[in-house]
Amino acid sequence: MASLGEPKNTIEILNKYHFMFQKKFGQNFLIDPHVLEKIIRAADITKEDMVLEIGPGIGTMTQYLCENAREVVAVEIDKNLIPILTQDTLRAYDNVTIINDDIMKVDIGRLVQERNGGRPVKVVANLPYYITTPIIMGLFEAHVPLESLTVMVQKEVAERMQAEPGSKDYGALSLAVQYYAKPYIAANVPQNCFMPRPNVASAVIRLTLYDKPPVKTVDERFMFSLIRASFNQRRKTLVNSLANSAETGVSKEAVLAALEQMGQPAAVRGEAFTLAQFARLADLLAGTAVMRLGEDSGGGTDAADELL
Ligand code: SAM
Repeated sequence: MASLGEPKNTIEILNKYHFMFQKKFGQNFLIDPHVLEKIIRAADITKEDMVLEIGPGIGTMTQYLCENAREVVAVEIDKNLIPILTQDTLRAYDNVTIINDDIMKVDIGRLVQERNGGRPVKVVANLPYYITTPIIMGLFEAHVPLESLTVMVQKEVAERMQAEPGSKDYGALSLAVQYYAKPYIAANVPQNCFMPRPNVASAVIRLTLYDKPPVKTVDERFMFSLIRASFNQRRKTLVNSLANSAETGVSKEAVLAALEQMGQPAAVRGEAFTLAQFARLADLLAGTAVMRLGEDSGGGTDAADELL
């Protein structure tokens, strides 16, 4: 099969099957061999690897993955693409399995257990942009065994994932991603590398999973509720954002006392806080909550959980 990275080969397949692009599935197919090679290099795929591809489309990147990996599992939601993949563009490969399903509904933990003996897999994808964040965070939060995710996303989203404290792109997404993985933007990809041409520029980002999170906190759900509340109202101070949020259940006095203990000014904003500082703040605030609830109920239960 000729490489689909060449635009003329992609056009030939699209015409042969009278394929109609579905906007609702975020279908923008890659048509640039250099970008495809860059993705494979960034993902560092070897013959030892099992790769999970999300959204193979007509199989453009899947062909490269099949050449380089031990085994590829590709999950595609659009049933119209399945015959193209199985009977045509991937027919020559015996190391690929196509699953026709919504990636959000697939039990990836089980898949990894069955296909890779529970060892971490590499995810490679040109992601549908309408669900980029739910897919990535869903994989992290489900604690699926993953070595890395090398994914094409909107350039702006890649920059937010990699942003550091104090920068304009820094926010809840930066902290959520960086709790689980080390981000590295491997390439910027212009609109003309896709068919049809998307409205926004893209970037390839590699997220290399940590064995364990870089910071310790007593209750990670509580820490993330503080992070979300801190960035909900960007112009507000951390104290006001947290005290105004029903989700966190913390009082203004408690936040002020915690900041003082951390040696932070009362007017500090969320965008200046590192992940380590959010972890410490969460521990200080969860501690006061435990005491308050413990006093009320007379019980010694996990009160930080009850707060959420
Ligand atoms: N990998 C191909 C490429 O690079 O040319 C196609 C990438 S295209 C941006 C995204 C692909 O994801 C499409 O094939 C689309 O049908 C598929 N897709 C969209 N939503 C999906 C979902 N929830 N689960 C699985 N696949 C999905």
